[in-house]
Amino acid sequence: MHRSLNPLMRSLSVLQRCVSTPSTAIVSCRMQSAGGQHMPKKLQGKVALVTASTDGIGLAIARRLGHDGACVLLSSRKQKNVDRAVHELRNEGLNVEGTVCHVGNSEDRKRLVDTALQLFGGIDILVSNAAVNPFFGNILDSSEEEWDKILDINVKATFLLVKLVAPKLQERGGGSIVIVSSVAGFSPFPSLGPYSVSKTALLGLTKALAPELYPLNIRVNCLAPGLIRTKFSSALWENEAACEHTLNSMGISRIGEPEECAGTVSFLCSPDASYITGETIVVAGGCHSHL
Ligand code: NAP
Repeated sequence: MHRSLNPLMRSLSVLQRCVSTPSTAIVSCRMQSAGGQHMPKKLQGKVALVTASTDGIGLAIARRLGHDGACVLLSSRKQKNVDRAVHELRNEGLNVEGTVCHVGNSEDRKRLVDTALQLFGGIDILVSNAAVNPFFGNILDSSEEEWDKILDINVKATFLLVKLVAPKLQERGGGSIVIVSSVAGFSPFPSLGPYSVSKTALLGLTKALAPELYPLNIRVNCLAPGLIRTKFSSALWENEAACEHTLNSMGISRIGEPEECAGTVSFLCSPDASYITGETIVVAGGCHSHL
């Protein structure tokens, strides 16, 4: 879906795909929750917003939330990636929409939230998954600009998105937020010092947000993946020497797949996790995970 398409056109497009006669797009997500003869899926009727969800872990999370019944708004920086991911998941029969969102851009964050409200009528789930790493080397060689970028995208944008979305979750009577950190947040990856520190900050952000959001019935949890096979991590596994070095430092001696993170996020967003908040689940094949 193109970012310049006006809200009415988008709503019409959702309607055409999802329902034959009802008067609003919102009905499409709620209608599913009414269920048929089948047992409702665990996220049926929920609306999920997932950042950086056109590839890797974010795409796997979006797919899994969709298969578990949620309507999902996909997003990333590039329109062509958004279009490809939306097409791919719709071909699996999932109820997804997409919009461009560079999480470091406040207008993009606002449009992401507005788009979810316009197309799906509310938000129940936020998965904050976007991160960058512009620096590889000894931490003392990293520059102020690199720190600014890492902290802006990985930490500050996560907080600002939560701030924007929390009132929308409250309007629905509560909801669930999952922040994607990393096992590097517990034990810094060699040569990835600033990135690792930003991921430690997300463990803290989860702890700081959770108590403030208890009263609103909003749970905030965190996922800490280990080494997962994606473009982002390819420098750590794409050549044999790097791969061997990496595998030696791991418990389960293989690289994880994005799908192995997705089920944990779906669980955290589901009623099965209704008494879990402020926690981090490590999905890292046994890697060291204590501060
Ligand atoms: P990936 O496969 O490289 O996918 C990155 C996704 O992020 C793409 O959809 C990309 O699309 C989007 N993106 C990049 N910058 C963005 C921005 N500023 N705003 C919005 N979207 C952006 O990466 P990944 O490995 O799945 O990483 C996802 C998350 O998992 C990150 O938070 C990462 O720190 C964390 N993680 C990964 C690993 C691992 O081993 N892979 C381990 C621990 C934690 P566009 O190019 O279209 O923007």
